[in-house]
Amino acid sequence: MTLNQPKPSNGHVDTTPPQWSQAVLRAIVETQAHFDPAATQSETAASVLAIAMRLLGASSGLLAFVRDDEPYRLHDDIDGSCDREQVLEILDDLAYDALHAGTLTYRDGSSGSELALLLQLNKDTHGIMALTGFAASPSPARLRSLQPFTTAVAAVLRQFQDDLSSSQVGAVIDSMVEGILTFDDNGVVRAINAAAEQVFGYNAGEIEGQRISLLVAEPFASELDDNLQSGSVQQMQFPGREFEGRRRDGTTFPMDVSLSQIEIQGRNLYLAVTRDMTEWKAREEAAEQDRQNTATLEQLARIDAVTAIANRRHFDEVLGKEVRRSARDGRNLALILCDIDFFKAFNDRYGHPAGDKALHAVAQAIDSCFKRAGELAARYGGEEFGVVIAGADADAALVLSEKMQKRVAELAIPHGASPVAETVTLSIGIASVIPGPHYDPLELVSAADRALYQAKGSGRNRVVVAEQATHPRQLKAL
Ligand code: GH3
Ligand code: MG
Ligand code: MG
Repeated sequence: MTLNQPKPSNGHVDTTPPQWSQAVLRAIVETQAHFDPAATQSETAASVLAIAMRLLGASSGLLAFVRDDEPYRLHDDIDGSCDREQVLEILDDLAYDALHAGTLTYRDGSSGSELALLLQLNKDTHGIMALTGFAASPSPARLRSLQPFTTAVAAVLRQFQDDLSSSQVGAVIDSMVEGILTFDDNGVVRAINAAAEQVFGYNAGEIEGQRISLLVAEPFASELDDNLQSGSVQQMQFPGREFEGRRRDGTTFPMDVSLSQIEIQGRNLYLAVTRDMTEWKAREEAAEQDRQNTATLEQLARIDAVTAIANRRHFDEVLGKEVRRSARDGRNLALILCDIDFFKAFNDRYGHPAGDKALHAVAQAIDSCFKRAGELAARYGGEEFGVVIAGADADAALVLSEKMQKRVAELAIPHGASPVAETVTLSIGIASVIPGPHYDPLELVSAADRALYQAKGSGRNRVVVAEQATHPRQLKAL
């Protein structure tokens, strides 16, 4: 067969071909193989009808050619379990309707779905194929994708009406976006279409008769040669597989290939449908970069700029989530709220930038105490911090608060304006709860806030635990 005709790129980029378009392409190549003026019209009709019925899963079909707007039955293949005359009547009727409608006709008949395909070439109708008895009704998308196939059948039918060169039939295959090539049992390229010429950088004349392995990069080229030599090439059939293709200039590119075996006029051939994935890959990579950027932005949206720890938004999310989880599991949940003592005076004494620095250092010291799963320290607002500790009761939270206080003390940030200490200190309120199913997280916040208020009121630089939300109880001061 001749498939070579130069074709400009239409810039079409598609994703990996689905099984269906593979099946259509295969049917087209098989149909085209019946361009054979030596064959009789009825032999050819039987073959192409069989190809169509297999493609669409129809159990009965009829092929007619059209002359002077009249359809003439060429061949039929009626399901043996049906009433032959009745099915033929349905198919004839369908063929007439489609011819008069001038378009593909698909309808629900009394005995199931019925489909008539107009076989047109350059807008002239050369035949009609009527099909019924579908295993599964073909979807509209599948029906739309049949046009290249019906064109190929029309071209094959037309050879009996006038002299049609095989290159005109080959033009159908050349119009395909996919790179199509066939090779024989010996691994010799038999035909290549225009899209494949473009992808690989060869003219058909240069590659036809050459080894197929020229078109693939190692290690697949050797694998292919080995398979061809050992006769195990049949095991290589696959619906879609990615490897490196090789262009004429030696450069390689990512390529998706579907390989299937076809029999054409008693000869075994392999049909490879290839697709250059370079652009697709580039788009995938760009999309991945986008996803990462989005993830980074989302991460940033959860971080407070001054302290570089979680912000209030993230805190609220985690608190809500942990309250629900604790309610489900019947487990304790503790919340710590803390506030830097006399921080306004600190700013007044050392300046706002120094205040920011101190805020950052204190936040990092606090954060360093809560790195386990289910723990989150966040800037709650101003010079106030909140900590969620899943699975902790008041005692556990108290131990962690003291650790936190110790780390802040170790920073030893001088605070000459503080009446309670030489360095920056924290007042801390703790609340804990085993939440019920409708527990409002704000209750826990209020309880911790009341405890914090008590810590402030009773002298600052201390921890107060509200063991029950309603009964805060003062613990020791540091
Ligand atoms: P108390 O011990 O009662 O908490 O006294 P305080 O001065 O810390 O509390 P107050 O609420 O009166 O003042 C909080 C101060 O925290 C005032 C504000 O300028 C300061 N502040 C809040 N956010 C920032 C910030 O991002 N950077 C700096 N430098 N200061 C901040
Ligand atoms: Mg304060
Ligand atoms: Mg405050």
